Amino acid sequence: MIKKRYVLNFPPDSGDKALSYHLVRDYDLRINILKAEVYPGKRGSLLLELQGKKENIEKGVDYLTTHQVICEPLDKRIHFQHEKCIDCGNCTAVCFAGALTMNRETWKLQFDKDKCVVCELCIPACPLHLFEIDFR
Ligand code: SF4
Ligand code: SF4
Repeated sequence: MIKKRYVLNFPPDSGDKALSYHLVRDYDLRINILKAEVYPGKRGSLLLELQGKKENIEKGVDYLTTHQVICEPLDKRIHFQHEKCIDCGNCTAVCFAGALTMNRETWKLQFDKDKCVVCELCIPACPLHLFEIDFR
């Protein structure tokens, strides 16, 4: 069993389709919605964590894609210029999800993208503007 996070963008007419029901029933996946911005009649965005067998997650993602859902791994939506980081630690103070932490031995910033919940609080917290996060 593995866990993977994806950003999903739904077409406006997808509200009546039981996509998550099929992911659970047909692909034996556990679904955790970590963030949602859905507006009736417009495109919606979800941050979804899928848990299950690797091959079932891949099949589930294929299923979503065939239903016009754009489905991208979370780390493809996060752009961080690590090489410019001065390890000031400001961003770790706002990252409640624990994705940004300081290494206690080297005092260098560590970024575990798998823990990110796309709250976007690190964007204004970084004095060097090193984060770009594309959720919508
Ligand atoms: S968006 Fe930034 S602050 Fe929010 S969880 Fe992700 S890394 Fe942490
Ligand atoms: S706030 Fe910016 S410069 Fe400071 S540790 Fe975080 S990413 Fe690096």
